[in-house]
Amino acid sequence: MENVIILGSGCAGFTAAIYAARANLSPLVLGGLESGGQLMLTTEVENFPGFPEGIMGPELIANMRKQAERFGARFDDVNATSFTVKDKHLELGTENGVLQTKTLIIATGASAKMLGIPSEKQYLGRGVSTCATCDGFFYKDKEIIVVGGGDSACEEALFLTKFAKKLTIVHRRDAFRASKIMQDRVFANKKITVVWNSAVEEIQGDGKKVSGVTLKNIETGNVTHLQVDGIFIAIGHTPNTRIFGNQIKVDDHGFIITDKHSHTNISGVFAAGDVQDPVFKQAVTSAGTGCQAAMEAEKYLERYI
Ligand code: NAP
Repeated sequence: MENVIILGSGCAGFTAAIYAARANLSPLVLGGLESGGQLMLTTEVENFPGFPEGIMGPELIANMRKQAERFGARFDDVNATSFTVKDKHLELGTENGVLQTKTLIIATGASAKMLGIPSEKQYLGRGVSTCATCDGFFYKDKEIIVVGGGDSACEEALFLTKFAKKLTIVHRRDAFRASKIMQDRVFANKKITVVWNSAVEEIQGDGKKVSGVTLKNIETGNVTHLQVDGIFIAIGHTPNTRIFGNQIKVDDHGFIITDKHSHTNISGVFAAGDVQDPVFKQAVTSAGTGCQAAMEAEKYLERYI
């Protein structure tokens, strides 16, 4: 029987592991298929406190893992495939058999939705980004497109106008889904042009960085080419909660609902990081909630009989 199993090996999972390990709980971290989380998809991280020169995303993750290991955290890169609540404990099915635990910290993150065209994978981190806060700074005086029509797309576009020379929002319909206030701000911003009824067909570049996109007007079939340095895809995130079915309470967008203390609706089960955060989605806020969840798991275990 484990004290704590942590699902997920991003910022939230590894921070929870550091705290749980330092509390002598010998946590077991199940890394999952996308080991390291979303920071593995970024290049330089410039806004994580403590690194004045910035740090590469994968290096930050490797450091967190080492730090957790130092205090006795254990790691297994298996995937959890099922979740069952028992009388006094929890059970997780994995590819290697069933694990039993007294507490569980869900830090499985959220995956940015992608367009589904082959070139976006090739240029991810090299001109294609899913996070304006993370990468906007690299696009000073550059030309950028933002794909999407919701609050995220509008918010990212507005933020990116601080850096971009020219910004185009490409949306597949002729109206935004975003809230009125965000739409008003977008329409009032002189740096932003909107291309309606259009989809990104292909991304061009020299293999190392992006140089342009091909857009197709969905109504007319017209194909146009736009020279750009960066493409921000802001079409939503999918929280990774599939194995919990409807046992864990989630909001309308599928994010796990937690209270202020990181508790879910099931006792002994806590959630941290992007899987429960549709708003901030930052490495540092994920680390913060990972810390909270581990401290609450520790408290729960003190009362556990
Ligand atoms: P969202 O509201 O689901 O919007 C996603 C947008 O992307 C939609 O406009 C959608 O087009 C488009 N889209 C989806 N799949 C696409 C595809 N394959 N190709 C091209 N376009 C695609 O997601 P979100 O903007 O991330 O917002 C999620 C939630 O967080 C919302 O409740 C939102 O209000 C909230 N949020 C709030 C704030 C804020 O208040 N500051 C900021 C960010 C997010 P259609 O419109 O045609 O469906």
